[in-house]
Amino acid sequence: MTPGDEVVVALDVGGTGMKCALVRPDGATVHAERHATDAARGPEAVVGTILDVAEGLAGKARADGLTPVACGIAVPGVVDEARGVAVWSANVGFRDVPLRDLARERLGLPTALGHDVRVGGLAEARLGAGRDAGHVLFVAIGTGIAAAHVVDGSAAVGAHGAAGEIGHILVRPDGPRCGCGRPGCLEAMASASAIGRRYAELSGAPATAAEVADRAAAGEPLAGRVWTDAVEALADGLATGQALFDVATIVIGGGLAQAGPRLFDPLRTALRERLTFHREPRLVAAALGDEAGCLGAALLALDTLAKESR
Ligand SMILES: [Zn+2]
Repeated sequence: MTPGDEVVVALDVGGTGMKCALVRPDGATVHAERHATDAARGPEAVVGTILDVAEGLAGKARADGLTPVACGIAVPGVVDEARGVAVWSANVGFRDVPLRDLARERLGLPTALGHDVRVGGLAEARLGAGRDAGHVLFVAIGTGIAAAHVVDGSAAVGAHGAAGEIGHILVRPDGPRCGCGRPGCLEAMASASAIGRRYAELSGAPATAAEVADRAAAGEPLAGRVWTDAVEALADGLATGQALFDVATIVIGGGLAQAGPRLFDPLRTALRERLTFHREPRLVAAALGDEAGCLGAALLALDTLAKESR
């Protein structure tokens, strides 16, 4: 076995799909495949698919003359990384699933279980837009808003596996009710879903966040108002993040980052207006796209392997 033969089996499990890959220790993907999660089948069936897919990837590696050395799995929700348990997930239905040990048993490989956004942040901080920054805040903005605080290549997990819930910073006490039950969370103002929903409520016509951004750029006043409100709320949330973490770089990922300068130009200005003595972080778009979670799962697995062999 030469070092160049080693690969990690990596899976990023989402509410609708699983991104899966064989990844070399340097972060290069040698094989990628996608599968449906089909969460409506229930958590047991989803776990069965995860194990089957992981086993299939390990077999594929061996058939190609590669050596699978570890497995990394990323899932959404609340994840206890130390115990390897998927504690709770709204969109996949997990409740206290010991996924790490199940995968370790099936594959016979050291396995790590991570949180999708935290490992995504890990990948952006080590291989993507936050490379060489040291202190990075990765913020994923899609149907929800979540963050990962990465220091020197390691993401903080929190005492209960729930660090990084920046989407539930209170920014507008009189604002719309959040999915968590409280009015005024950042996520209820500025997630891609919230932007589309707010525009639809005010205009009576459905629209995606991207369409709201387009219409705002084209000069439509209502779209402009909704977009500006979201950007201001985001800037409030990011200013709080910067006060807490003092990072060098904030990496914005998820669907909303695709709005490009329509998001980044006003957001940079609004964030700058809110900072007093805090240093302004570099504000950049994520570089790894939707592969970040899968690459991050691989990195987490490699970290676990390094720790176990020490
Ligand atoms: Zn909330």
